[in-house]
Amino acid sequence: MNLALSSKPQSKFLIIPVFAKEKIPAVVRAIDKNLQLPALAIADFKNKLGAAQIVYTQDLRIMILGLGERKNFTPASWRSAIFSLSSRLQGVEADSCSLIIPSSIPERPDALVELTGFALTHSSYQFNEYKKDKKLSKLGQIDIVVKNKSKKLEKALTNGITIGLAANESRSLANHPGNHATPTTLANHALALAKKYKFSCTVLEPKEIEKEKMGLLMGVSRGSDEPSRFIVLEYGPKKKPAVALVGKGLTFDSGGISIKPSERMEEMKYDMCGGADVLGIFQAAAELNLPIHLVGIIPSTENLISGKATKPGDILVSKSGVTVEIINTDAEGRLILGDAIDYVKAHFDPRLIIDYATLTGAVLVALGDEYTGFFSNTKKYDRLFAQASTRTAEKFWPLPLPVEYEDHIKSSVAEIRNVGERGLAGATAGGMFLKHFVGETDWIHLDIAGTAWTMRPKSYTGIGATAWGVYLTVDFLRNLKITN
Ligand SMILES: [Zn+2]
Repeated sequence: MNLALSSKPQSKFLIIPVFAKEKIPAVVRAIDKNLQLPALAIADFKNKLGAAQIVYTQDLRIMILGLGERKNFTPASWRSAIFSLSSRLQGVEADSCSLIIPSSIPERPDALVELTGFALTHSSYQFNEYKKDKKLSKLGQIDIVVKNKSKKLEKALTNGITIGLAANESRSLANHPGNHATPTTLANHALALAKKYKFSCTVLEPKEIEKEKMGLLMGVSRGSDEPSRFIVLEYGPKKKPAVALVGKGLTFDSGGISIKPSERMEEMKYDMCGGADVLGIFQAAAELNLPIHLVGIIPSTENLISGKATKPGDILVSKSGVTVEIINTDAEGRLILGDAIDYVKAHFDPRLIIDYATLTGAVLVALGDEYTGFFSNTKKYDRLFAQASTRTAEKFWPLPLPVEYEDHIKSSVAEIRNVGERGLAGATAGGMFLKHFVGETDWIHLDIAGTAWTMRPKSYTGIGATAWGVYLTVDFLRNLKITN
């Protein structure tokens, strides 16, 4: 599908977004003064966000796209409207259409155009690599019609598409099943990205992981025959202090000896969405030439069962020498991230660490599947992060890391244990565990267990991996000022 900016509709199939109780936007009148829509059809139209109705004039086909009430409008509503539009266009016989961007939308035009490019790219994504019957949309061309076309808006559209494509790559990695997306596959993808965009990538194999004394990662991978990989990416000017992105890359999580229920266990192929996020962010950062020093760390393994698997009660030793009692082998994400955090601190001394992890079921209980759990040991980045979240319509909600709960991960036989108190603040316990490794470094922990994939269509995405955080992070990073 080709997206292009234009100042006039190129197609006879117009998409006109309209707020509830408002008339056809002035921009449409500016294009065609004589445009008369059948009054009856408009009167019938129930303007809810994402609702759509097709009407015909003598020589035009017009889809009215509901935006709901103007006072409720946010970038998230626009993203939902675009997703709804994309879904409807799949069933429409047309090879092109013109999406009119009403100039009355209360959002900066360049931000809106970028979001449109992103949302159209994200919502036209299909994962059908294992299907013979690939349902491809006939729609080849969408013009995005703006009142004042400019170089700035052209750039915004290109950026939106670029970030959308990077997110879609990340989604594909995550959507592939565990027998295709192994730790080696992730590593090979990282190496290919690094080669294409000329940044550096080192992949540690089990022997080197052992040399680095990453006992937690080794403990998790013991039960699997698939060799683990520890992926290290580095992009941008090395003289600047680094921002480190750490992504959980569990390519399949059975829970280990503390095995998960079999119902919905197939979804555990998505336990590497954090790692896929990091790869998507690197792709977008390189495409957009972001002037930032980025380090990416993806510890990648499977969590399976065998005669060699780590057992509840075992004590593992982390890279930095922390002893960890394993209470539940299914709380393995925090283990491999603990070693990853140790590694990135020892080798890169980053200014800020952001981690992406499908870490806890408890975050779903607390926040449901629309909000990522946000934890941090600093308030420095709160505003920038919140702004990026609003602009990109990737939502989060803050959760605490209070000192009162530090005891929750104390062990009677080791320094810490890998779960908190039964039934108490489970998402926080995951964060507390990571905090033990982070120490004083500024850090943001994103528990994406509720948002990284979905098995029911949401207002802004279809089923499968969502690449939650790729767009948000790119927006955050390009506005972040890190000085020496
Ligand atoms: Zn697990």
